Amino acid sequence: MTDSRAMNAAPKTTRLAEYEGFPYAVESVDLTFDLHPTETRVTQISVWKKITAGVTSLELNGKDLKRISVKIDGELVDESRLVEIDESLLIRQVPDAFTLEVVTQINPEANTALEGLYLSNGMFCTQCEAEGFRRITYYPDRPDVMSSFTTRITADPEYPVLLSNGNLISDTKIKDGRRVVVWEDPFPKPCYLFALVGGNLAAERDSFVTMSGREIDLRIYVEKKDLNRTRYALESLKRAMAWDEDVYGREYDLDIFMIVAVSHFNMGAMENKGLNIFNSSCVLASPEAATDQAFQRIEAIVAHEYFHNWSGNRVTCRDWFQLSLKEGFTVFRDSEFSADINSRAVKRIQDVNFLRSAQFTEDSGPTAHPVQPPEYQEISNFYTLTIYEKGAEVVRMIRTLLGPELFRRGSDLYFERYDGQAVTIKEFVGAMAEVSGRDFGQFMCWYEQPGTPRLQVYMDHDSVTGQLTIQFDQRAPAIAEIDSHKAYLIPISYQLIDRESGQVLVPETLFELSQTSASVTHEDVKGNPVISVLRGLSAPVKLEMTRPVADLIALARFDDDGVSRWDAIQDLYIQSIGHLLKDPDSPIDQALIDLVCELIRDPQMVQDPACLAEMLTLPQDNILWDIFQPGDPQAILSARKQLRQTLADGASKYWKILFETMTPEGPYQPEASAIGRRSLAITALTYLAKIEQVDTILEDLFNNASNLTERFAAYRIARSDAAPHLSDALSQKFLDGADTDEVLDLWLSTEATNERTATIERVKELTGHERFAWTNPNRVRAVLGAFANRNVKAFYSAAGYRLLADSVLKLDAMNPQIAARLVMPLCQWARFEPSYQDKMKSELRRIISQNLSKDLFEIVSKSID
Ligand SMILES: [Zn+2]
Repeated sequence: MTDSRAMNAAPKTTRLAEYEGFPYAVESVDLTFDLHPTETRVTQISVWKKITAGVTSLELNGKDLKRISVKIDGELVDESRLVEIDESLLIRQVPDAFTLEVVTQINPEANTALEGLYLSNGMFCTQCEAEGFRRITYYPDRPDVMSSFTTRITADPEYPVLLSNGNLISDTKIKDGRRVVVWEDPFPKPCYLFALVGGNLAAERDSFVTMSGREIDLRIYVEKKDLNRTRYALESLKRAMAWDEDVYGREYDLDIFMIVAVSHFNMGAMENKGLNIFNSSCVLASPEAATDQAFQRIEAIVAHEYFHNWSGNRVTCRDWFQLSLKEGFTVFRDSEFSADINSRAVKRIQDVNFLRSAQFTEDSGPTAHPVQPPEYQEISNFYTLTIYEKGAEVVRMIRTLLGPELFRRGSDLYFERYDGQAVTIKEFVGAMAEVSGRDFGQFMCWYEQPGTPRLQVYMDHDSVTGQLTIQFDQRAPAIAEIDSHKAYLIPISYQLIDRESGQVLVPETLFELSQTSASVTHEDVKGNPVISVLRGLSAPVKLEMTRPVADLIALARFDDDGVSRWDAIQDLYIQSIGHLLKDPDSPIDQALIDLVCELIRDPQMVQDPACLAEMLTLPQDNILWDIFQPGDPQAILSARKQLRQTLADGASKYWKILFETMTPEGPYQPEASAIGRRSLAITALTYLAKIEQVDTILEDLFNNASNLTERFAAYRIARSDAAPHLSDALSQKFLDGADTDEVLDLWLSTEATNERTATIERVKELTGHERFAWTNPNRVRAVLGAFANRNVKAFYSAAGYRLLADSVLKLDAMNPQIAARLVMPLCQWARFEPSYQDKMKSELRRIISQNLSKDLFEIVSKSID
């Protein structure tokens, strides 16, 4: 795959400001695939019409293609009219209207980049977003060129299932058991939504009757051995289809909807029209082979890809700078779906935690970019948390500002007006502006400026007159260039409660901060007011406010917003860790220990076990590194351990009873209340293991659990320092029982992160395991991704950085997308003390001295400039 490697000198930058429409329209595309593992022939017959006067050449994209022939209106095009440069083919002197016939040959087996057409466990499959279609045939590989596609697939009998987008038109036997199958997609689409699958697959089937009474054939295709693990995804799909009709009025449009599970996949899943292709880990589930988290992730991803049928497919993006138009909106839609199906408070806590720990990190690091980036070298690098998660927060703010009814009218207008078109973020926001009469000019800063804005809150309360003034100040993101930075419009939701009684003094209010500073006054505020601010995280900003311990305790005890309650106790944990970092002998505030005990005893809290489990979980490394920078990750790790031990000791009489009463009885149910109980039971067991011998409990749980969640917890806790006698035995037993890739990956990631045993040598050993393969992204993420992101003890060392850098270089030659993602932890060097920084930077310099893919080059060069 030498062609995919660019010299490190100046890769081409694509800029939003330089956007130009494509000068030709493609009226129809007819593709014929003659499938073969190493020599697949692709014939494209397409009908073209010039739409820009004065143009005489046609520029098509193509990469790693063997060009067999190019014909225009049936005549072979002479080589003198063809110019091939980099990733494009220029055809000179084309007529104003013509039929193009291009024959190419490709080698799916050699395609380890997993873009375009490739083989996964002997199955043909495709991934075309963002720029994979150019590895199939010469074509304008850009989202604003839309056309209807017909796909004809011919293959040997060993590939009995042949699928593509749209509806099945015919399936004909030809000689030697070979078949020709024809699919037709009547909805015009860009080529990134093209898909093809060919393999020996089995299908689980069901049906769904839409709001207008049409019956849709639903199928999930998997390898035969996995057929018993498809039910949950199918049920999730039906829930998502019903929800999109109820909440957005969106109905499915084709006669058939298919999902195919593949084992080699760079991303989670892909929303190809009518034929979604999924990473098998995001679709296959059974109680024995998927944890609660996996069940919930599958439900969310199945819904996300389905929702794209409208937000992404029927209305698509004009160019890749608009990626968040489809992704931000669709993440917002899937998170609301999950909140409606499960616990709204817990879903929001998890989303906020993820945003703060991962997206805020990205937004303050070397690869920070706006939700609508102005430029890129490699678009694959922009499938980021900013585009997805922050993009979703921006849509959430629009809904907060408009209210649910106007927001729905705005989305109806957007879908109706732009159906079948490729549009920009401006059209989406414009529809919201039109239905509400609101000016979104200032709001666009959220799309155009990088970084996380900061919010400061000051209160002045006159206890005699009861007058209370709240002042809100916004500060630019730490990374912002001050002269070009504009103030944001920040929706701030707040409420005031009394510190002692928890009584609401001022009910929930929405304040729109549009200037750098503004204040609001309330009269007659009695008692001791405590502010609950940014409720539900009403805007993706960092709160810079030193809150007294007594205020935080009041919020954690009384606040009626789940996120604010959780946030208050997280802040208390962070303050305690801060004290320990200054002085490891400083005692933990007894008030925090008393609060933890009170929360556990609170009958209302125990009614919402998932929420209590979140409150008992200490903040993640990423959040602590962000606060205590430049920090020492090893010192932060020990401070957090010390706090955990103190809480375990301080609430010692509750852990066992909590574990016993919360463990659900009866058959496994992957629904919210049972998941919440298991989550709290396992959290309690983790604390219990810090204060007493739990060998018998762990062994019993491991051997008798009805589900993977509990069995995995027993193994994981034993593998930590809790049960050294059991550790090796349970690890071996867990591996012996790992008869699916998903369970194997859990084992690999636990072995790569467990601090007690996961040394550098052990991690190297895992990459040599007989079931490990460098060509499978899921295995690479399970071992090296887990090691670099979650094994602080071993990774933050010279040998740890070297191991990661070596792995990144090795992977870059096979799969540049995965290499560019894996290198990220090294790029965050600025958050650590100089002794760490120097070693991390020297590995980055070693990487950039090599000949790199443009994916990896873009990330690393931004990180060491
Ligand atoms: Zn998506």
